[in-house]
Amino acid sequence: MRYIEPHGHMVSRVTDDYIDMVTAGCACVCEPAFWAGYDRSSVNGFYDYFCQLTDYEPKRAARFGLPHFCWLCINPKESEDVKLAEEVVAIIPKFLDRPNVLGIGEIGLNKNSRNEMKVLEMHVDLAARQNQMILVHTPHLEDKLKGTRLIIDVIKRDQRIQPERVIIDHVEEHTIKLVLDAGFWAGMTLYPESKCSPARAIDMLDNYGSERLWLNSACDWGVSIPLNVPYTALEMKRRGWSAEDIDKVVYQNPIKFLSQCRKFKLPKA
Ligand SMILES: [Zn+2]
Repeated sequence: MRYIEPHGHMVSRVTDDYIDMVTAGCACVCEPAFWAGYDRSSVNGFYDYFCQLTDYEPKRAARFGLPHFCWLCINPKESEDVKLAEEVVAIIPKFLDRPNVLGIGEIGLNKNSRNEMKVLEMHVDLAARQNQMILVHTPHLEDKLKGTRLIIDVIKRDQRIQPERVIIDHVEEHTIKLVLDAGFWAGMTLYPESKCSPARAIDMLDNYGSERLWLNSACDWGVSIPLNVPYTALEMKRRGWSAEDIDKVVYQNPIKFLSQCRKFKLPKA
């Protein structure tokens, strides 16, 4: 088996996870900037985090033979402080030329607040000005449908953004159609305590097809399973999916989306 982990917060994982992922056939990991489990006290905390994502973590992954890419932003959970967000958005361009940076993400909404909306708009503007791809985080549970609608409105309103260069992550049964119909890519997050189980993800693939969709584990500092993509591939096999159709979802689709960034290249097998 071969697969891509398009959404893993590796800075919060241990080296055993890298070994397990590579053993299971992981061909590369992509790490969106997110909440670290605590609020950073200043822009300097983000500067250091962006250095970690663009310098230290790719080197750590390389020790296990795993290419590492990342996305940069101030995440929605820390977007209440608009002034801090402005400072963080101002330093992001310094990092955009680094070789493993794919674009702006994971931006979006957490509680659907006005300040979060302002910061989302700032990031969409930054992506448009810098011609960057976008990865979007959608809120949890009861806030998800409303938040997804708000996010789609903000992105669609900016005529400079091409929807096929945007992936909206953490879709569920009630948001997947909205996202695909608007021309975006959609990510399904396989998470043990919330979001989506492997069985539900495969049901969605059965219902909506496998175009413009990817699977990810979003493994982070909380209870999460870094191998959930290959576990889901095994479940797909059990449910009668062909090897080629599984490969399309877990390997070819992410490559198709990510290759829209010219820096995304996998080493020749
Ligand atoms: Zn995430």
